[in-house]
Amino acid sequence: MTHHTITIAAGDGIGPEIMTAVRGILEAAKCPLIYEEVEVGEKAYLAGHSSGITPQAWDIVRKNPVLLKGPITTPQGSGYKSLNVTLRKTLGLFANVRPCRTYAPFVATQHAGMDVVVVRENEEDLYAGIEHRQTVDVFQCLKIITIPGTEKIIRYAFDYARNNGRKKITCLVKDNIMKLTDGLFADTFRRLGEEYPELEKNVQIIDIGTARVAVNPKQYDVIVTLNLYGDIISDVTAELTGSVGLAGSANVGERISMFEAIHGSAPDLAGKDMANPTALLQSAVMMLVHLGLSAHAETIQNALLCTLEDGLHTGDIFREGVSTQRVGTRAFGAAIIERLGRAPQTLPIVKFSSATAKTQPYVRPSVKRELCGVDLFICEENSDPELLASKLNAASAGTLKLKLMTNRGVKVWPDGFPETFCTDHWRCRFVHTEMTPSAQPPVYPILDGAVIPRLMKQLHDAGIDVVKTENLYLFDGQRGFSLGQGE
Ligand code: NAD
Repeated sequence: MTHHTITIAAGDGIGPEIMTAVRGILEAAKCPLIYEEVEVGEKAYLAGHSSGITPQAWDIVRKNPVLLKGPITTPQGSGYKSLNVTLRKTLGLFANVRPCRTYAPFVATQHAGMDVVVVRENEEDLYAGIEHRQTVDVFQCLKIITIPGTEKIIRYAFDYARNNGRKKITCLVKDNIMKLTDGLFADTFRRLGEEYPELEKNVQIIDIGTARVAVNPKQYDVIVTLNLYGDIISDVTAELTGSVGLAGSANVGERISMFEAIHGSAPDLAGKDMANPTALLQSAVMMLVHLGLSAHAETIQNALLCTLEDGLHTGDIFREGVSTQRVGTRAFGAAIIERLGRAPQTLPIVKFSSATAKTQPYVRPSVKRELCGVDLFICEENSDPELLASKLNAASAGTLKLKLMTNRGVKVWPDGFPETFCTDHWRCRFVHTEMTPSAQPPVYPILDGAVIPRLMKQLHDAGIDVVKTENLYLFDGQRGFSLGQGE
């Protein structure tokens, strides 16, 4: 049998204890693995590596197809970057997969029968980390959603559902507010969903979706969502299972994937032989499936279920009347090893599919992109929109026409309400001088790009402070920008 060389990083806090337990189980189950250990986390941070990883560790992580990682303690204080975010972004780990299930009646829970997998987009959204302070009043963080990123995660989620015999997939978005970004996510879900007729599909708004997940998680099967929503909803689902010590996760990339427990380094338990190694073990099981070692994964997972059924529980899941014996990390690992080869009696026997999701190369659609206007963001402390508009109209004469002004997205000119609070940050939309303001639907005449620098020079010469520009485009004649509230 071919052996797979994998990278392991024990991490900080309880990391070394749970990694030792997991490694012992992998070895006892005769998984054909060769381990290359790297040191990441606190020691690397304190040795001056601001992302918590040394150049030598990077070389090994990039060489092997998978990394099994324990939790990391990010030291307090500025200047330290999250190792997880660095690994996810640098290695292109686009899908974060978090299965969260309950083990009733053997592990106490209020949600018997819950079995939810959250597939979270891992690279885009507000986590692109592009933030600016533009004026005294205003800070912004850009939400970046791309077609290739969206197609990749949604196809991955559908393939995951299909390959794992799942029945239902729910897409959680806020497309009633973010019509372009979240709208792209929902539209892509609906479009690609046609290729998966056997799956029940639905799109829900994230706020009510989160509420329903929290109250009745059994309604959900696979969830696919954007980065920030996925971050939150997967913590909700993990918490509902009874202990953060139970749930593992995969961060899947095209060449390299990382597997880790969802919990942190639990400094309160470190060195006490009390931590539950289940979450890291479930991550390792996902890793085995990813490597095509489904039979080994099943043997280990079934032994874990037997151990839970037998009531041998670590402190986080130990309950009088439900558990039979409180055990430490080492004894729990040994109990799983003793049960390798056994099948659970009540919990369903696990069978993993050997099919894995394959990403498809992105083919950029051929789309005609035409410039039809520009939003200029202006810093102006005077809060009278009429005054600012007349200044802008006078300064822009002969180049472009001011169509509207908004403040925090709300229309304040023309015909704004005096009640609207105005900051020092104004979005001023300029279009072709020949655009008819009243035409419905609006028809945007196409612009020559050279007009924008001319307009900016005019405004600059008039003492107007432009802090940012955003071009307005039509894509095959469709607006590639949102209307201002009240536009
Ligand atoms: P945590 O997940 O470490 O601990 C939260 C609570 O859950 C604690 O009471 C802890 O004892 C318990 N717990 C966690 N894992 C457990 C396990 N396996 N068995 C039993 N109980 C367990 O979260 P925190 O306290 O907010 O963070 C501690 C450190 O971990 C911080 O430095 C944080 O930055 C880091 N962290 C790392 C990761 C990661 O590396 N993926 C994720 C989250 C937090």
